[in-house]
Amino acid sequence: MKIPKLLLSSGNRDKFRELSEKLSVIPGVELLSPADFGISLDVAEDGKTLEENSSLKAAAFFRLLGIPALADDTGLFVDALGGAPGVYSARYSGDGATYESNRKKLLKELSGIDDRGAEFRTVICIAAGQDERLFFEGKCRGRIINEERGSSGFGYDALFVPDGFEQTFAEMPQELKNSISHRGKALDSLIEYLKT
Ligand code: IMP
Repeated sequence: MKIPKLLLSSGNRDKFRELSEKLSVIPGVELLSPADFGISLDVAEDGKTLEENSSLKAAAFFRLLGIPALADDTGLFVDALGGAPGVYSARYSGDGATYESNRKKLLKELSGIDDRGAEFRTVICIAAGQDERLFFEGKCRGRIINEERGSSGFGYDALFVPDGFEQTFAEMPQELKNSISHRGKALDSLIEYLKT
């Protein structure tokens, strides 16, 4: 499939930055944002899986603008919490949840628990036609530490140390996070697909 223009349909500035940094290396694809069209669209993420939510978001933007639209849905799946917060990662601490209140809730839920294994998962969906959907997945395993470390990154980054590293995502340079993260891996598959 040839994709000359691609709308990165994320209203989340942090995700948008990570997506565009990696995708800007693909020659011949013009990256656009909802702001380029003067729109912002709040799509209800009421699916039960990352696949459903990413597809809902991408399809909504495709219907509105008629150009291929990419959406990312991500969750943090914590082993000792039976996979929570998972698909509900954005709203973990309830109405009005913020990155900070979500991190606090996670630390509270894990207090006294030794098993700190966790996994970030990202599903990227591209809606490129009425019924045309492409999916790309990326995972990153690691552990949740006992207190926040680092000031870059976003969401749960300051609590997550990926396997094979000592720094949290929020302590590492953005480029390193992009090269090993769940989102980075999903984007690598997408880039591979677009190249072939
Ligand atoms: P969603 O894909 O917008 O539903 O993201 C769910 C939530 O997961 C976000 O609100 C963030 O708190 C968190 N999140 C998503 N991506 C990342 C990441 O790369 N690092 C840390 N937290 C993330």
